[in-house]
Amino acid sequence: MIYYVTPTYPRPEQVPELTRLAHTLMHVPRIHWIIADDQPLCSDVVLNILRRTNLPFTHISSPKPFLYKGTNFPRGVSNRRAAVAWLQENVSDGILYFGDDDNTVDLELFDEIRNTKKVSMFPVGLIGGYGVSSPVVKNGKVAGFFDSWPGSRTFPVDMAGFAVNMKFLKPSASMPYIAGHEEDKFLVSLDLKMEDIEPLADNCTKILVWHTKTAKYKKPTVKINLKQFDGEPKFQNFVNLLKETSRLGMASIESNNGTKPYIIRDRKSYETLTGLQ
Ligand code: UDP
Ligand code: MN
Repeated sequence: MIYYVTPTYPRPEQVPELTRLAHTLMHVPRIHWIIADDQPLCSDVVLNILRRTNLPFTHISSPKPFLYKGTNFPRGVSNRRAAVAWLQENVSDGILYFGDDDNTVDLELFDEIRNTKKVSMFPVGLIGGYGVSSPVVKNGKVAGFFDSWPGSRTFPVDMAGFAVNMKFLKPSASMPYIAGHEEDKFLVSLDLKMEDIEPLADNCTKILVWHTKTAKYKKPTVKINLKQFDGEPKFQNFVNLLKETSRLGMASIESNNGTKPYIIRDRKSYETLTGLQ
C-alpha cells in the first residue's frame, strides 16, 4: 500500500487542484490517500472529492499553529506531522509519500516507489534555478545532490523527491517548522545514511514528478443580494450557480459589498433582475 500524504488549505484553486490530483490517484492500485486539511474542521468540499474517488482515504483536520499565519511560514507542516502521527499509530507496512495538492505526478512513479526498502529518491522537475532537483547517481549509488539551494542541508531534496518504507519510519521521525528545512530535517530524524538511499527513475535520469504551481487567483467579491430572487423560481438555476461558486471558494457573494455584476443579452449589459426577465 502507498500512503499518499497531501497537505491542503482552502483557496480558489483548491478544488480544481485536488480534482486533478484525485483523477491521477484513481488510476493507482493499492493507494490510500491521506488528506491533512489546514483547517479547524475537515472541509466538506475536500471530503466530497475524497468520497468520489472510491479510494481508501483518511481525512485529518490539522490547522497550522496561529504563530505561523505570517509570511514565509513553513507550509503544510502541521498537516504532514498529523499524517505521520496517524500513520505511526495505525500502520506498520507500506510506503509513505508526501505529494502536495498542486504537484503533477506520472503514474510510473507509483510503480517505482512501491518497492522502497528504506528511503528511495528521484528527480523532481520545476525546482529552483536548475529546473530540477535530484540526487546524482554514480555506480548505482547516490553520490551527491543537484539542487540550486544548498541551504547547508545534508539531503537537499524536495518534499516530492523521496518515499519512505513504513518500517524505516522511526518513532523519532519529526518534521520541523523551519521553512526550507522540512525535508532535510525529516530525513535526518530518520537517521538516514547516504548509502541507505535507493535511487529510482532509471538512476535518477527520468522525471516522474513536477513541482507545478498554479497562478494565484484573487478571490473576487460579487455584490448581489440573493434575497431579491426569493419567490422567483425561474431564476433558481442562476442562484444555485452563484451558491456553488461561493461554496467552492471561488468568489464571495455579498449583498452590500463587491463588484456589481451584469447579465449580457444581445451584446447589452443589464442589471441582474432585468437581464433575467
Ligand atoms: N499548504 C497548507 N497550508 C498553507 C499553505 C500551504 O496546508 O497555509 C499546503 C499546500 O496545499 C501544499 C503544500 O502545503 O500541498 C505546499 O504549499 P505550496 O504549494 O503553497 O508551497 P510551494 O509548493 O510553493 O512551496
Ligand atoms: Mn506547491
